[in-house]
Amino acid sequence: MAVVELKNVSKSYQLGETRVDALRGITLDVHSGEFTSIIGTSGSGKSTLLNIIGCLDKADGGLVKITGQDVSKLDEESESSLRNEKIGFIFQSFNLIPVLNIFENVELPLFVKNKLAVPERRERVDRVIESVGLGKFKHHRPDQLSGGQRQRVAIARALVTNPSLILADEPTANLDSKSAHMILDLMADLNRNQNVTFLFCSHDEKLIGRVGRVVRIQDGMIAE
Ligand code: ADP
Ligand code: MG
Repeated sequence: MAVVELKNVSKSYQLGETRVDALRGITLDVHSGEFTSIIGTSGSGKSTLLNIIGCLDKADGGLVKITGQDVSKLDEESESSLRNEKIGFIFQSFNLIPVLNIFENVELPLFVKNKLAVPERRERVDRVIESVGLGKFKHHRPDQLSGGQRQRVAIARALVTNPSLILADEPTANLDSKSAHMILDLMADLNRNQNVTFLFCSHDEKLIGRVGRVVRIQDGMIAE
């Protein structure tokens, strides 16, 4: 099944007198269970593309379908439930809440729609924290962890809603190369063993070809 279907997607920004064409006709499919890496230099349009796929931003033109739904046809409520329930996000800067411990950070997305009973919710949070290897750190706060460990927490937080797709925007850019490779190995492992679908982007050529399919983006276009 195609989790992401993009046809001729475009996006421009107006900066004073100048127009920046950030995306110039992107056509791309991502299927369930795939690990896709988008590689391109800084400014090539990676974040713009991921933000549109994650319904954090809107395309100017073209078709954007996520889990089969044309996002331009969704009302606000359906769009936010798509974003909250079907998509997980991992960012370069981790974006953890400093005053919450690891367990509470990971639990947070489950409060958006409180469907789970308390024991079930706790069991789910424990399970994803174990799956990223941080069982011993549940009661620590983010500032007590290394960068690599913080990014593992962010991965657990992205996984906890059991999303159809995880978007990872340069998740390794703030890490030393050993931690960066460990994070990539963890995502590859989750992809292989739990069938988690990842769309990962990076400017770092050294991270390419380790897992899955590679798509190159240049000046807002897919470069084959
Ligand atoms: P990448 O993530 O690959 O570095 P971006 O998607 O952030 O690339 O940016 C693509 C282009 O769009 C760049 O030229 C950038 O300067 C421009 N851009 C991105 N976001 C904005 C914005 N909010 N306003 C104006 N220009 C933007
Ligand atoms: Mg970016």
